[in-house]
Amino acid sequence: MDIIIASNNSHKIKEINAVLQEPVRLIPMSEAGINEDIPENAKTLEENALEKARYVHRRTGLNVFADDTGLEVVALNGAPGVHSARYAGQDKNSDNNIDKLLRELESYENRKARFRTVIALILNNEEYLFEGIINGRIITEKRGDKGFGYDPVFLPDNEDCTFAEMPAERKNMISHRANAIQKLNDFLSSRL
Ligand code: IMP
Repeated sequence: MDIIIASNNSHKIKEINAVLQEPVRLIPMSEAGINEDIPENAKTLEENALEKARYVHRRTGLNVFADDTGLEVVALNGAPGVHSARYAGQDKNSDNNIDKLLRELESYENRKARFRTVIALILNNEEYLFEGIINGRIITEKRGDKGFGYDPVFLPDNEDCTFAEMPAERKNMISHRANAIQKLNDFLSSRL
């Protein structure tokens, strides 16, 4: 069963398809003729995911998957949260985002943080939300060169490696995104 994903990010699509159970497969929205970036102006991950899903659903009428993820840092009252991609500026530069995060956290002892993913699914014209969380902490220097985004400074609880040090297979087993997709798998397997 094909579901259109409200994204053309091939890295993300590959990561999600690796965790999604057959017979479901995500198809980039470009294959449904959508090539522009979808606006993400909402104040919460839930609203952003729903807005993206609705945008693609309006255009295609097909079943749609959309997700939105944020890094939520306790000492920063949940920031950068929904602004994670553009924390240090519109160019979505990960190195700059990490530098800003480490600067902001310099004076705090409490470095607890979590990644949170929200998936919005529109299936047969009905809307559903799924949430996945991984808890951890922000370390003081980057470690590792795998992954993307804030991975080099995120150390998950009960792990010795940051997300950027561990093999992709390990990250795909324990991550916020994997956790949310597992819930989606359970839901879809009860439906299909
Ligand atoms: P998106 O909603 O998946 O586009 O994620 C928004 C932003 O959160 C990304 O641009 C990254 O900065 C950050 N992010 C999302 N997922 C991850 C992850 O698995 N590791 C590190 N950073 C992530």
